[in-house]
Amino acid sequence: MARRRKVYEGKAKVLFEGPEPGTLVQYFKDDATAFNNEKQGIITGKGVLNNRISEYIMTRLSEIGVPTHFVRRLNMREQLIREVEIIPIEVIVRNVAAGSITKRLGITEGTPLPRSIVEYCYKSDDLSDPLVTEEHITCFGWASPSELDEVMSLALRINDFLYGLFIGVGIRLVDFKCEFGRLYQNDDVRIVLADEISPDSCRLWDIESNEKLDKDRFRRDLGGVAEAYQEVARRLGILPEGGPRDLKGPAIMQ
Ligand code: UDP
Repeated sequence: MARRRKVYEGKAKVLFEGPEPGTLVQYFKDDATAFNNEKQGIITGKGVLNNRISEYIMTRLSEIGVPTHFVRRLNMREQLIREVEIIPIEVIVRNVAAGSITKRLGITEGTPLPRSIVEYCYKSDDLSDPLVTEEHITCFGWASPSELDEVMSLALRINDFLYGLFIGVGIRLVDFKCEFGRLYQNDDVRIVLADEISPDSCRLWDIESNEKLDKDRFRRDLGGVAEAYQEVARRLGILPEGGPRDLKGPAIMQ
């Protein structure tokens, strides 16, 4: 295949020009970063697993009517996506206290939240993605009030659906981050789920043991990072017998 032109390179993914206008190819790397790039590493096989897990989650979400940028997986590390204008906000939904909220508000990790909380961070590496309010988002024009309503309602729908999906395979969805973009089609503009949803962007704990099956294993040097991502794929029924090397087609197991 001819080399495609690189459009953007992030910490864990690269975007290339797609085969048709309005499409991009999203390539999943094995690179991992944490604490705003202070910690860096390679998790062998992570890109393959995240490509497959994100494909699975985006597909399930689109089946319940959540619009996404995902078109189809192309190969082990690449997926075809629709080109969107990314809203520069990380939307975080929390069900259980973990990570930054525990430090910010002095809440013990693992405390169940009486209701799900949605938080917004402004996407800026220079500023370390600061927490912002809806007021900041609309005041600085990062999203309009109606776009933000749509973002919040989609984020909560995604949370409700994924919480149930993961409970079904013995995993607690503690929190996750998602991003949205504007999809321009003809004269129409729609807000769609973009980026990825994977163990890089979720906290996933085993329901019985509370074992961490996500990027916190890398952040906290707990070891077994790739094995944990593989376990998530296995429980979702998308890891073929031969392991990540065999991740060629959708081999759904019950
Ligand atoms: N998260 C992410 N990218 C970021 C920041 C957070 O994917 O740049 C995810 C993180 O994996 C977790 C959730 O968002 O599932 C909430 O993260 P938190 O605010 O607790 O920040 P952290 O403790 O990860 O720095």
